Amino acid sequence: MAEAKLIDGKAYAAGLRKRVGAGVEALIAGGGPRPGLATVLIGEDPASQVYVRSKGKLAAELGMASFDHRLPESTTEAELLALIARLNADKAVHGILVQLPLPKHIDTAQVLLAVDPAKDVDGFHPLNVGRLGTVDSGAPLDFPVPCTPLGVSMLLQDTLASLSGRHAVIIGRSNLVGRPVARLLLRADCTVTIAHSRTADLPAVCREADILVAAVGRPEMVKGTWIKPGAVVIDVGINRVPTPDGKGRIVGDVAYAEAAQIAGAITPAPGGVGPMTIACLLVNTVRAACAIHGLPKPAV
Ligand code: NAP
Repeated sequence: MAEAKLIDGKAYAAGLRKRVGAGVEALIAGGGPRPGLATVLIGEDPASQVYVRSKGKLAAELGMASFDHRLPESTTEAELLALIARLNADKAVHGILVQLPLPKHIDTAQVLLAVDPAKDVDGFHPLNVGRLGTVDSGAPLDFPVPCTPLGVSMLLQDTLASLSGRHAVIIGRSNLVGRPVARLLLRADCTVTIAHSRTADLPAVCREADILVAAVGRPEMVKGTWIKPGAVVIDVGINRVPTPDGKGRIVGDVAYAEAAQIAGAITPAPGGVGPMTIACLLVNTVRAACAIHGLPKPAV
């Protein structure tokens, strides 16, 4: 079988950011607001710092306002809730992103609940989770949807002419990735199976999949023999594995080299879903700004 088509998330995300930038320009030119994204990071985790910095930088590059809030590890829940209340009330802020995970002394559920659902660009507020959980087949997504799952569904829509009737197997049932991906694919009329750590004979379940989404967090767990010939494989995993030089390298949840011999199309990791996540955050921010001001959303 020929080598699978590469699903180039990096290139797709670059195009998406360009379209968002054009949307921002048109919004402002038409007298609308400059979309504003506020990021909140607690503590000194270097990976989170890099991630939050690149979100702010990309937002600014697309003509959005970016508000960066760095708080010490010792920040109390009350202090964080007070900041969120200020951001909820701030007219220049249309999107609020609280970088997870939060320190153990802060109740994440309370924090997610405190974010104004209209500014919840991560799509983690229970109201938005419920909206995605109850959305009808094909109905518009007129509420914020979690960024990584939105990126996964965009790559699938771009790769396949139609998702309707396809059997999608999602490995992973987290609230961050697995469950929202399942809900988006159900809305797109896929037949959806959610697999997890207790699934019996996972390889056999995966071999049934026309679309296989791996969101597990286990380096190269999904083998080539698990894949139905011609299936579309989306690898959400980001795993650092050791290398002899001590620097380590990133691999996905799918054994790429062998999977690419069997699949019809596949995302690399890195360079697949990862770049889509931030691009979708920017999509959500411009959409939130339009929704808050009662303006039509730019087509991206
Ligand atoms: P998570 O919360 O740890 O969830 C992992 C899921 O995988 C759980 O549902 C777990 O099942 C399941 N699982 C674990 N071991 C398994 C096994 N041996 N067989 C079958 N299922 C198994 O992780 P997450 O937040 O969803 O993230 C998943 C991966 O995606 C990670 O590598 C993460 O770094 C990556 N990620 C990437 C992006 C991006 O932008 N590309 C964004 C977010 C996450 P149980 O529920 O039964 O425990």
